[in-house]
Amino acid sequence: MIDIKQVATRFVCDERFFIAISHVLDGIPQNISERLINRQTFQIISMREEEAGLCFEFLHKIKHLILLNGRILYQPFYYITHIIAHEIAHMILKHEGPKNDPAIEKEADDQELKWGFEFEYHTYSNIKPLIENPGCKVGEFWAIQIPEVALDNLNTHLKAWDWARHHETVFKQLLKDLDVSTIIGKGYVLKAERENDEYTFDKAFVHGIMALLKCRLLDGPDWKEKYGALLRAPSAP
Ligand SMILES: [Zn+2]
Repeated sequence: MIDIKQVATRFVCDERFFIAISHVLDGIPQNISERLINRQTFQIISMREEEAGLCFEFLHKIKHLILLNGRILYQPFYYITHIIAHEIAHMILKHEGPKNDPAIEKEADDQELKWGFEFEYHTYSNIKPLIENPGCKVGEFWAIQIPEVALDNLNTHLKAWDWARHHETVFKQLLKDLDVSTIIGKGYVLKAERENDEYTFDKAFVHGIMALLKCRLLDGPDWKEKYGALLRAPSAP
């Protein structure tokens, strides 16, 4: 069992990744997680949207480095844990350097599934099309413009959205509560995209709002300045 304190003292990335890292290290075979936590040549770093540059000083020679994009913190928990598990899988499989080979990516995903991160993998697979759908940005723009008090009302859904292992059920509830069509109107400017794929657009709209709510929760009073990060959310690990 990997203690969160071990993770906190071990890795130099944004502390808001620590819960997700412990979750992943707890899910992989113990001999591997212990090796990773004890192997001083392995490190995890991250970068936030507002940071122009970072400098780290390591006490040990680093052989394996995982770099996490701080923007993924605004996505649901199991999306974040997928990215971490996927990158660790690359490392264990000795995939060196950045490659965009679908066969290599599949190998990492298969390893992740072998370790039992099915919810993580499926959360990522379900959410990726939403992030890429134009509805997501429409949701973000909508949420940034409405009064904060209205966002407070939506906060009740944030936990369910963030921690849901079955997003389909959560989205159904959110779509019911929000009634996207009455909010933005059926004749919205992105109608062309909506006609073929209306349900995905609506889900993406809701997803954009919820990601922005998570950004607001994590970043506090500066959240509006950081929402730009959401508008350029990452697509693939
Ligand atoms: Zn990959």
